Amino acid sequence: MALEKNENYFELSDENDRASAIEAQFNEDALEVARRKIAPETNPDFDGIHCIDCAEKIMAARLKLGKIRCIDCQTLLEKQTRFIAG
Ligand SMILES: [Zn+2]
Repeated sequence: MALEKNENYFELSDENDRASAIEAQFNEDALEVARRKIAPETNPDFDGIHCIDCAEKIMAARLKLGKIRCIDCQTLLEKQTRFIAG
């Protein structure tokens, strides 16, 4: 009976370790996403004014944030990225 209890204990702690590992991975992913959002985007095709995907003019407010895509293309890209990621 005592042995059975121990086995259960180890199983549980292993489960906790796994949960922690998944949590750590999740946090790293979230950090990476945040990092990418904060960092100004760059592209050799970007002329500093026009969206690199559809050549629409990007709003000045977006340019100041270092964006290289218009809202439409940015939204589309984020949807695609989310789709690929998971
Ligand atoms: Zn665009």
